[in-house]
Amino acid sequence: MSSPLIALTASSRTPARGEAKVGVNDAYVRALQSVGLIPLIIPPSLGPDDARALVARVDGVLLSGGEDVDPARYAAARHPLTQAAHPGRDATEIAVALAAREAGRPTLAICRGLQLLNVAFGGTLVQDLGTERPEGLVHPRDDARDERVHAVSIAAGTRLATIVGAREITVNSLHHQAIDRVAPSLRVAAHAPDGIVEAVESTDDWWAVAVQWHPEELMHDPEPWDRAIFAAFAGVCGGRQSPPRTPPLRA
Ligand code: MN
Repeated sequence: MSSPLIALTASSRTPARGEAKVGVNDAYVRALQSVGLIPLIIPPSLGPDDARALVARVDGVLLSGGEDVDPARYAAARHPLTQAAHPGRDATEIAVALAAREAGRPTLAICRGLQLLNVAFGGTLVQDLGTERPEGLVHPRDDARDERVHAVSIAAGTRLATIVGAREITVNSLHHQAIDRVAPSLRVAAHAPDGIVEAVESTDDWWAVAVQWHPEELMHDPEPWDRAIFAAFAGVCGGRQSPPRTPPLRA
């Protein structure tokens, strides 16, 4: 059987001179390939119609991290610290998310991907944790992208709890926004000690798991949790179902 094909969403930037360029962190590509999945990068200018057509032809979807979702998408006024909107990316990815559910394509959503998924299904976001939840943890951390900086409690009975095989883990944290109101078709699967939602998942048979941290940056970490997330995604997409590698011994 050929390797499953995964639609990997991406951003784009227009330089001061020249044409817009599509880009996505290579860590997503490497993480997908490490579990036997072939990434197919989806340009944000694709648009809803072709996005739907594309989702029908792939085996799974990875909604990647990136810029803030336009608050107009969840009927909120723009916070001064919310980043400039990327209307093409929002439109393309919302279509991808809705099509993935409709077609039953397994979906892994990471950071912005989690926020986008929540907005696509009717939820809202906290636009800036530092000013709107100042009593909480610092979530937009300056540490290395693979540094585990805060704890996360995983809810019992969730898909994520089964996948990770632990209830308390630590994660990296590279976000200044978070979920506020959870979309009706999603449920909270994990939260940080300050109550911020760190994972959601679908409540029905559609396999959709969304995390606020960056498992793709933790594939070489001694702890197996994040490799387990990608391995589970590969399993439901028809890829290799081999368990995560035994973690290397700590020095
Ligand atoms: Mn966090």
